Amino acid sequence: MGDARAGKLTIGDSVIETPNLFPVVNFYGGGTENSVYGGGIHRTVKEFMIGADRIGGDDAYAKFFDAVMTSVSSLTDYNVSKERYADYVYEPIKEREVFSPFNGVIFLDSGGFKFLNNESLDGSDFQEDIDQAKVFEIQKRMGGDIIVNLDHPITPSDTHEERLEKARKTGKNIEIFLDLSDEYTGARYLTLHGYNYSMMDAFLTEITDYVSAEKLRSSFDGIALGSLVPMKDNRSALIDAVIDCHEVLHDWGFDKLPLHVLGISSRAVPLLVALGVDTFDSSTYLQNAINGGYFLSLMETVNVNEANFDECDCPVCSSQHMRRWMRGNAPYKKDMLGPVAMHNLIIQKREIEEVRQRVKSGDSSSLVEYIEGTVAQDKPTRESAHRVVNHSLGGYFQ
Ligand SMILES: [Zn+2]
Repeated sequence: MGDARAGKLTIGDSVIETPNLFPVVNFYGGGTENSVYGGGIHRTVKEFMIGADRIGGDDAYAKFFDAVMTSVSSLTDYNVSKERYADYVYEPIKEREVFSPFNGVIFLDSGGFKFLNNESLDGSDFQEDIDQAKVFEIQKRMGGDIIVNLDHPITPSDTHEERLEKARKTGKNIEIFLDLSDEYTGARYLTLHGYNYSMMDAFLTEITDYVSAEKLRSSFDGIALGSLVPMKDNRSALIDAVIDCHEVLHDWGFDKLPLHVLGISSRAVPLLVALGVDTFDSSTYLQNAINGGYFLSLMETVNVNEANFDECDCPVCSSQHMRRWMRGNAPYKKDMLGPVAMHNLIIQKREIEEVRQRVKSGDSSSLVEYIEGTVAQDKPTRESAHRVVNHSLGGYFQ
């Protein structure tokens, strides 16, 4: 339907529906197994994920974690010791007892964005040099279902020459990555960088000095569009990038591969789905909760103190125990905000489900209606919404 598409993504034994949203989850946040490996609000989110006793032992939440995003670089976010780091990479996430109720697909990012200026993984008493071989070793040990090469993301202030240099460095990594991961059972995604057609085309031209286009096409299972984080709130630049990305992938023969957009604002999701993006990752459910933001919908947020939990039928808001926590009657701050994050995630997952059903229906007016009733009602994004409808969904008047 237009450029929008719905389908199933099969990775090993896991099948997820697309379009889909991968929430960012930090599995290792400085703690031990007893604290679900810690991480403040991340800990409470993981307790929902595994149906821990602290949140009432409810297993209704697991389905919202059918796919998650995490990163190699998050391993030392909490400044852990060398011993703790060694424990974190000792065995795959899904083989650990504590995470056994979790069955979702893990997209394990390389951390390129974080390693850009400092090519090491830093803990409190150690430093580990990071290169493509090291990142792949960690991805393998942690058991990523989808992994990407170590990349060198661009920034808006880079010169043309700096962007080409980064593409060449990424190209070298891709060559090493494909070689090392030849027998890997998970899916491998190729990172793509650029804000417009000519930048993405130049990126692919540079990396094909290291690995041929044919080899890229036969080796990679998907494309991960990166470098968009600095413009995640600039709807019009995002749309330009995704429209151009689509054209580049078509011209290079990659258009059959699933397309993931790395690290964008969840509000852009309906528009990017209309433009043909299959999967997304976002931490907005969590970032908003940390600031007390409680989602009424994809577009509307209120402070949790003003929220009326009776108006939401999600498992969090239906639980008296969780309502008390969200009202501030909780052991720790993370226990007040963790349920808010969980509620926010449920709102987002329900919206993506709604969008998916509309794409599946094959009736583009159904998706147009959705966009008109949501994104287009928001003044700053109205123009972008109309542009996407006209570009991709046949316009309002057919
Ligand atoms: Zn709720």
